Amino acid sequence: MEMKKAVIIGSGLGGLECGVILSKEGYDVTVLEKGLQAGGCLQGFTRGGFRFDTGFHYVGGIEEGGPLHPLFRYFGLLDLPWVKMDEECFDEVVIGGERFPFAMGHKRFVEALSERFPSEKAGLEKLTAKFRDIGDHIFNAFKGEMNPAFAEGAWDFLCSCTEDPLLRQVLSGTSLKLQLDRETLPLYIFAQISNSFICSSHRLRGGGPAIVEKLASQISGRVRTGAGVARIFEEDGLVKAVGLESGERIEADVFISDIHPVALFSLLGEDSGVRKIYRRRISSLKNSAGMFTANILLKEGAIPYRGRNIFVHSPEADLWGPVPEKTGSVMIHFYPETWPDGSAKAVDLLSPMPISDEWDGTRVGRRGQKYLALKESKASECLDLAETGLPGLKDAVEGIWTSTPLSWRDYTASEGGSAYGIMKDWRNPLGSVISPRTPVPNLFLTGQNLNLHGILGTSMTSFLTAGAVLGRMPSTLL
Ligand SMILES: Cc1cc2nc3c(=O)[nH]c(=O)nc-3n(C[C@H](O)[C@H](O)[C@H](O)COP(=O)(O)OP(=O)(O)OC[C@H]3O[C@@H](n4cnc5c(N)ncnc54)[C@H](O)[C@@H]3O)c2cc1C
Repeated sequence: MEMKKAVIIGSGLGGLECGVILSKEGYDVTVLEKGLQAGGCLQGFTRGGFRFDTGFHYVGGIEEGGPLHPLFRYFGLLDLPWVKMDEECFDEVVIGGERFPFAMGHKRFVEALSERFPSEKAGLEKLTAKFRDIGDHIFNAFKGEMNPAFAEGAWDFLCSCTEDPLLRQVLSGTSLKLQLDRETLPLYIFAQISNSFICSSHRLRGGGPAIVEKLASQISGRVRTGAGVARIFEEDGLVKAVGLESGERIEADVFISDIHPVALFSLLGEDSGVRKIYRRRISSLKNSAGMFTANILLKEGAIPYRGRNIFVHSPEADLWGPVPEKTGSVMIHFYPETWPDGSAKAVDLLSPMPISDEWDGTRVGRRGQKYLALKESKASECLDLAETGLPGLKDAVEGIWTSTPLSWRDYTASEGGSAYGIMKDWRNPLGSVISPRTPVPNLFLTGQNLNLHGILGTSMTSFLTAGAVLGRMPSTLL
């Protein structure tokens, strides 16, 4: 029997994972990537002789019993050189000079924070019990169930656990990775992501590219880079082929889009079966802010390696409010690759940032002066704030390279340079959680925009998408 053909648009984590699943299920898979490197947010790049990551720093829940464990076992990713972070403190929140540890394991997490907030122990237990309960049921999504916590507000739940404003800040202090919003953030997303990191937290030697290489090696057909899809051709209510920017046409039985849905819509013809009303609904959903990143090479022996991330916030930062003009929060990530004396070799600084209307540069390599000046001043604000959480950092800088949401917009086609894509709204869960099925029966969606973002969310969604294509869950998963 002839193999069924699948074409996947975009080689981000979701695209590659769907490619692996369908390959294991007997499909002939071709992944088409517009960039020169596969991986999307998992791409790496080398500066000053060091390999930096772009959108990958640490993962939560890969150990036995954690939510990522069965998914990564399926993809053969558990064998990669993971480096466990400090169990006593994998994330450290620094507010106004005071340090608060996040410890691994739900019980230890409560105990560590109760030492500083003894009267809040019951509230911390309520919070972690809820996180755990929601985390334990993550795979109910595979039975088509929407967790009720999608229709509950994260902020309201947090407030029901503690009235202490400082503890609320601390508990929200590692959440640059999900963009907090008082009005909209579903408890489900806050809980799933927090829970996974409390279960266990790991960095990876070789970073995102190590994941990309492992996944790409399991794909039956090819991962083609420099192969941007410019057009989708429909016939008789089905997608028939995609057209590349080069003019080449590739036919298949099944098509999966791992790109931002709004970017996908721009590839469809006027008379597409993906009707305007559907496109309008999804296009109207809000996207998360972008991220400013400073990739920093450090002088040998200057800064000890830390098995933790440090999240530094200025005391007046409103972590649940809109992204401020002036830098109020910065995450410090340490690369697991160290200097021979064991000192830290490189760190990344990350800080949320919207795209500004003021930026005069629009295309890679042709940015204007205003943009370059803005990058410089943002980097200096980030360094000033990071220095308060990691004294000696500024003197330790050997080289620094920066990127902004504009870089994301141009390199991954993420809508408006958004870091985590479409935001979910607990007041309208059915409207903001997106199904992998589209109105066209052989066109499917995957990736971080659908359900839950991050490595965990995207990996879980890959199974939802593959399940929709196959009409059943891949049998060897759980
Ligand atoms: C700064 C930052 C830090 C992060 N850190 C972490 C972390 O530490 N831990 C964690 O769990 N998650 C992290 N994430 C989130 C995580 O990286 C993402 O959720 C995940 O990688 C998204 O994968 P995706 O499959 O949705 O697609 P993407 O990575 O967005 O990939 C989409 C791909 O499609 C390609 N494409 C677009 N248009 C076309 C076209 N027309 N034709 C062909 N190809 C096209 C793009 O070039 C891109 O390669 C981070 C994200 C960011 C932005």
